[in-house]
Amino acid sequence: MSFDRRIFNFAAGPATLPEEVLKQAASEMLNWQGLGCSVMEISHRSNEFMALYEEIIADLRQLMQIPNHYAILFMQGGGIGQNAAIPMNLMALAKNSPKADFLVTGIWSEKSQKEAAKYGEAHIVATYSKGGIASIPARNTWNLSTDAAYVHYCANETISGVEFPDFPDVGSTPLVADISSNIMARPIDVTRCGVLFAGAQKNIGPAGVTIVIVRHDLLGHAMPMTPMIWDWTNQAANQSMLNTPPTFAIYFSGLVFKWVKNQGGVLEMEKRNLAKSSLLYNYIDQSSLYENRVAKECRSKTNVTFYLKDEGLNAAFLEQSTKQGLVSLRGHKAVGGMRASIYNAMPLAGVTTLVEFMREFERRA
Ligand SMILES: *Cc1c(COP(=O)(O)O)cnc(C)c1O
Repeated sequence: MSFDRRIFNFAAGPATLPEEVLKQAASEMLNWQGLGCSVMEISHRSNEFMALYEEIIADLRQLMQIPNHYAILFMQGGGIGQNAAIPMNLMALAKNSPKADFLVTGIWSEKSQKEAAKYGEAHIVATYSKGGIASIPARNTWNLSTDAAYVHYCANETISGVEFPDFPDVGSTPLVADISSNIMARPIDVTRCGVLFAGAQKNIGPAGVTIVIVRHDLLGHAMPMTPMIWDWTNQAANQSMLNTPPTFAIYFSGLVFKWVKNQGGVLEMEKRNLAKSSLLYNYIDQSSLYENRVAKECRSKTNVTFYLKDEGLNAAFLEQSTKQGLVSLRGHKAVGGMRASIYNAMPLAGVTTLVEFMREFERRA
């Protein structure tokens, strides 16, 4: 398939980026800030890059209302890298031996729990049931520890499309939130968490940079074996530049932060994401061909999963939608079906076009 225009890209990540930002980056590619070269070609320690870096951190702080007693780190290695970095940096805070609690609500939190088990006890507080209607295990079934360093949870399970409507109630133990697929999709109270982390490639920018937000009192507890680039304390003291940072991904993320600000901030993003996701869910719920398999109270606003009741039509659905420029709707192989990832950069027009296609496909089925 080849296109001579921009598609509506529903990929889960790397994902669609705002068209205006792509154009801006293109226009600055050969000559950034009059330096006669691109931002990718200058030193990360140059005055120009350091000034840009400070501005990006300030914009992120403002957009997400991150108080000054939280450090903002730009790291590499993605969310998967943090699955190891988090236990290495925090588990030693446990009362007795290294230990953390895990709310396992889907494939991503399951992966985090497995990785953490290499560094200490990774206690499962509750786990999701596979098949049927996906949901978050009821609060009264959770088995929280009294001696865990932190509780890890995934705010939005990207694969199944299960999103926590609010922060889980875990008492006074610090909460670690994987916000990889819903960062900046809705306003959140950062102070409810000790640590928040997200790879950029879903709702922010290109792959390559991972945002880690850490409350200052949680720094300084890394296990001695922690590699220096994974040590948050070390990174916080060195502006995340212990090694060469992914400068282009950081620059591009900064352009997206400006874009979000100009659109009206994170509150405006939430309004749009609610409009887009309810359009899809409302259509799916009244349809006789499609169904969503997530409990209503925890349906994701950024990753809308759905199934064709007649799975024999999957191939035709994917082929015809792709032909019309509605691309990457195939669900994750672990759960099958379809998934429309509708992050901040997905315009409403993409979702209305998708719903029109789904309606027409159903009419002909
Ligand atoms: C994509 C994703 C990750 C992993 O991110 P990588 O950058 O590929 O390591 C972790 N958690 C969630 C919720 C994700 O959606």
